[in-house]
Amino acid sequence: MITRKVFKDLAIYMIGFGILIGIIFPFFALAMNVPAEFALDPLFFSLCVVAGILVGAVNVFLARQVVARRIKTLSKSMRHVESMISLRATTSKYDICDVDACSVPVLSDDDLGDTARAFNALIQSLSDSYKAEADLQTFNGEIASQLDLSSISAFALDTIVRKNRAAGGALLVERNGELDVTASRSLMNPEHLSDNPVLWRVLKTGTSERIAFPVDVDVDAVISTFRPRELLVIPILYKKVPLGLLLLAGSMQFPHNAVSGIEAFTAGLSLALKNALTHVQLQELAATDPLTSIYNRRFGLMRLQEEYNRAIRLGSPVGVMMCDIDHFKTVNDTYGHVVGDKVLLSVAKAIKTALREGDLAVRYGGEEFVAIMPGASLSDTRLVAERIRRSIEDAVVKFMEHDIKVTISIGIASVPETLSDTSAELLEAADKAMYRAKENGRNRVE
Ligand code: GH3
Ligand code: MG
Ligand code: MG
Repeated sequence: MITRKVFKDLAIYMIGFGILIGIIFPFFALAMNVPAEFALDPLFFSLCVVAGILVGAVNVFLARQVVARRIKTLSKSMRHVESMISLRATTSKYDICDVDACSVPVLSDDDLGDTARAFNALIQSLSDSYKAEADLQTFNGEIASQLDLSSISAFALDTIVRKNRAAGGALLVERNGELDVTASRSLMNPEHLSDNPVLWRVLKTGTSERIAFPVDVDVDAVISTFRPRELLVIPILYKKVPLGLLLLAGSMQFPHNAVSGIEAFTAGLSLALKNALTHVQLQELAATDPLTSIYNRRFGLMRLQEEYNRAIRLGSPVGVMMCDIDHFKTVNDTYGHVVGDKVLLSVAKAIKTALREGDLAVRYGGEEFVAIMPGASLSDTRLVAERIRRSIEDAVVKFMEHDIKVTISIGIASVPETLSDTSAELLEAADKAMYRAKENGRNRVE
């Protein structure tokens, strides 16, 4: 429509100008001493006007051919893109207007060429932003479908490292006042990150930091280690509260808009991490005893059965011990229940400390504890039980001016040495042994 109006105006001006020249031309001829009977002859006069009109018309025609066709190509492309964009809004497809399909040819080095170039640049950035949006949606979909903290962290870190061409990085999550590294790539000593003051500062302020030439992080290269050129430390905020951090190390400087690009990803990541953390917390809550934070009876019995079945299947041993604090009633009666609880906590800690990773400490009853040790024969179990007994005998719980000391009686059992058909029978054997320890004078292992 605009083109038509422009060319109508152009036609009016050009043909009008042609008529004007046609009218003026005979008077020019007069001035050039052409005799009046020739110059002002009606036929010559009319021919001049017709010639003016013709020149105007040809001009309009040429302009149409050269300019209008290019403008039409441009406007046709724009309409195509416009229809693609509205189609995208209803189909949520991202790849319908790629750069090849939607850009226009640049035919000349003038204003029209510039317009085409500007249009193509617009298509390019539109296409880039669709792609970024699609990537983000895929990323969010992927992490939202997972509940496991370490697999979410690994996937998120890999994606973000790859997209930003980083040399390495780490993802850290704050738990109980500590920064846990839940995933790391190509960093030499990721475990040392947890006490890095810069990371704590970012966690505290919730503001991203870019650090050039850092001194304390080495990045693994294929051949050698080198210092990264730049570090990005980005907080992962859930409802504006930092849950953790993302650390990216680049062997080159990151682009100026890298942080905002990554922050788009951390928004979805924070939700997934929050869910995973809540899940872990709920699981721990359901499995642990609130006073001592070791496993509760229900969870302990379930795990004992699992370990027992596994041991039978693999033909490997599993040791159990039943522990009962000696004369604990006296502690309660003398110092009160609150102090009794403190003693219980210290006994639970002593038992947990003596066990290896993979062993389980369980609060079985009021002041009774069970330890489950996969792979431990009867003699292994006795050694550990003796270590526990001694550490509790040596421990002191302070209360005002009192030094409170308790002892513990332990009964042990282990398959296959202890004959049993079920995990319950194995535990019963340990329980009986514990009663023998009480009968034989307490503070001993049977
Ligand atoms: P023994 O040497 O025969 O085991 O003597 P004991 O006094 O320990 O006897 P028993 O095992 O029967 O007593 C258990 C006592 O443990 C009873 C109760 O006062 C105390 N107890 C059980 N659960 C808790 C608890 O959660 N907190 C506190 N403070 N005391 C508890
Ligand atoms: Mg008891
Ligand atoms: Mg007791």
